[in-house]
Order: sequence, then C-alpha cells, then structure tokens
Amino acid sequence: MALNLLMLGPPGAGKGTQAERFARTRGIPKISTGEILRDAVHTGTDIGRRARAIMDRGELVSDEVMIGIVRDRLEKDDTADGFVLDGFPRTVEQAAALDTIMAARDALIVLDIVVPEAELVRRLGTRMICENCGANAPIGDGTVACMRCGGRLVQRADDDQAVVIERLKIYHRQSEPLVEYYRVRPTFRQIDGAQPPDKVASDLDAAIEAAGAGAVTLAKTVDRVLRRGVQP
Ligand code: ADP
Ligand code: ZN
Repeated sequence: MALNLLMLGPPGAGKGTQAERFARTRGIPKISTGEILRDAVHTGTDIGRRARAIMDRGELVSDEVMIGIVRDRLEKDDTADGFVLDGFPRTVEQAAALDTIMAARDALIVLDIVVPEAELVRRLGTRMICENCGANAPIGDGTVACMRCGGRLVQRADDDQAVVIERLKIYHRQSEPLVEYYRVRPTFRQIDGAQPPDKVASDLDAAIEAAGAGAVTLAKTVDRVLRRGVQP
C-alpha cells in the first residue's frame, strides 16, 4: 500500500518540519504548496507574480490555482509509492478536489497537529528562515546561519505580527472546517503538537501505524462487500 500522508494543522504547528522528516525517513516526496509558491515568487513565474501580494497579506491563493498545482504534481511518477502533502488542502473545496484526484489511489492518512493559539503566535513571531534556501531555523537557539546552506537567517515576510494574526484568522475560518471534513474517516488521527519535536514525531509514527491498519480494514471490508454483494 502507498503511504499517502496529509498534514493538517494551523500555521506554526510544525507541519513542514515533520513532513520533511517523513520525506527523509520514508523516502517519499514532500509536496509543500507554500514552498512551491515561494519558489514561483523567487523565479518570477506568472503564478508567482500573482501569488506574491496575496501571500504577503496572509491570504489564500485561489482554489483553482492551488488545485491545478497539486493535480500536476501528483501525476508525477515519484508519488506512486506515496507522498506527504503539507499546506494543501486549506479549504473544503480543495479537499473535495483532492478526493477526486485520489479516487483510484490508496486512502489518504490524515494527520492533524493540534497546538494552542498562544503557542502558535509565540512560535510564528520568533521563526527565522534562510534567505537563500527557505529552510526553517530551529526556534530561539541563537543560530545566525542556515544549517543547510549557510545562508543568512531572516524573518519570513508573512511572519510579521499583523500578518500572523490574519493568517490564524483565515486558518480558523477556511481551514479548520477541514478537521470536520476528515474526522469521520478511519484514517484520521490527531496529534498533540505542543510537545517537543521528537515526541511529536514518535506520536505521528504511531498514528500512521494505527491509521494504516484502519485503511487496510476498510479496504478489506469494501473488497468483501463488492465480491459477495452483501450489505456491510
Ligand atoms: P504556513 O507557515 O502557514 O504553513 P505555508 O508555507 O504553507 O505557510 O504557506 C504560505 C502561504 O502560501 C499561505 O499563507 C498562502 O498565502 C499560500 N498557500 C500555501 N498553500 C496554499 C493553499 N493550499 N491554498 C491557498 N493558499 C496557499
Ligand atoms: Zn539555507
């Protein structure tokens, strides 16, 4: 079975860090829509030019554009054994489109990282990223250069305090309903993201095990029902 992971959670929950770890430890591609957009801004593509102002205000890029980006990316062969999606879906419309895209593929394992609001504001206000490669720096440990490429660390434009508040507001309004969208599935799991990163990581690993078992049970049930034509 392919390992199709989806990371949910507010900005600052640590989705990117944990997604990066999955990509490394499980050998699946990480698909981060925030990163794809920042790259597009950097190289000055059409989408990048239009997305820049929207991102700087902390608002969401249109569903149409985002769905197109993700559909194209998931068509690539490197996603055959799985992937980890970070930053998508962010709206119920995007989630519904993703279900259509995924219709013939293995079930999504949905991991929701939960962090209290005050902690998010604190984290986002002190987060530093590499000016050159965009990597996140560890929070508040006083490093001045990027661990990956040695680049200068700067605050991300959309981590400015007013923008942070706006992003959290938009999260509650547009993205939090996704929790209700996915909660009913046997492959949905919530993880306490206020713990140290290593503990979050081991909780996520356990959640994937449990959710994977849920997906297999569900697939078997569907298979049995289809074969025998019985009611579940
Ligand atoms: P965060 O730190 O909040 O996880 P991201 O790096 O995922 O931020 O995204 C940065 C910005 O890129 C968002 O605030 C938004 O403007 C845009 N963006 C990223 N993913 C999406 C998406 N799925 N739908 C709409 N806009 C998106
Ligand atoms: Zn760097």
